[in-house]
Amino acid sequence: MNVIISNLTSKKPIYHRAGCFYEKRIKYGNRLMISKAFAESKGMCACQYCCGFKGEIRTRTDEMKSWEETYNLSIMYKYNSLYILTDMGCWRIFYKQDIGKYILYHKNYYDRNLEKNDAIMGKYHRQRDVKETESLERLMSYISKHDKAKAVIMDDYKKLPQTTKAQKKYYRQAKNRAHRSAVRRVDYLFSLLESNDPGLKQMAFC
Ligand SMILES: [Zn+2]
Repeated sequence: MNVIISNLTSKKPIYHRAGCFYEKRIKYGNRLMISKAFAESKGMCACQYCCGFKGEIRTRTDEMKSWEETYNLSIMYKYNSLYILTDMGCWRIFYKQDIGKYILYHKNYYDRNLEKNDAIMGKYHRQRDVKETESLERLMSYISKHDKAKAVIMDDYKKLPQTTKAQKKYYRQAKNRAHRSAVRRVDYLFSLLESNDPGLKQMAFC
């Protein structure tokens, strides 16, 4: 990532993320763009306004609005996390400070009829097929694709695309899930029948 400093500062300058309120006040001719790694290697300090997770949220509000429109989702910053709600699910993005990367969590159960504040409460699991990343864009795009596919599966998994390797893998997983769910439904049906008529179990021989 690149950061911005003022080349007028005599001592160690403070570096800013692009879009920071204070970065915008540095005159055009005095601005210098350097890599964050270089700034850190020179012992420069991060601006308190635009550094870290909160700083990213503060400086990227316009982009977040455009993601909401492009991907048809809604983004909330709460409890030190980003919550993303779609028609199909609820997601949590957590910034892990020590590695400087985002981790994606998926809500176990989502009720879209609830108010946003209530809908985000409850248990989440780590979305294992998504590696920790520095890119919020990548996570937004993943969430959108995931939930679009989920909507297709709820209709019929056979309608999922099978062009790329990743799509083929996802298709197989959806097929297996549909199979497991069919087996569970039959098991449940049999256990219901047998509980109503215990004699039926003795008739079962396979
Ligand atoms: Zn700043």
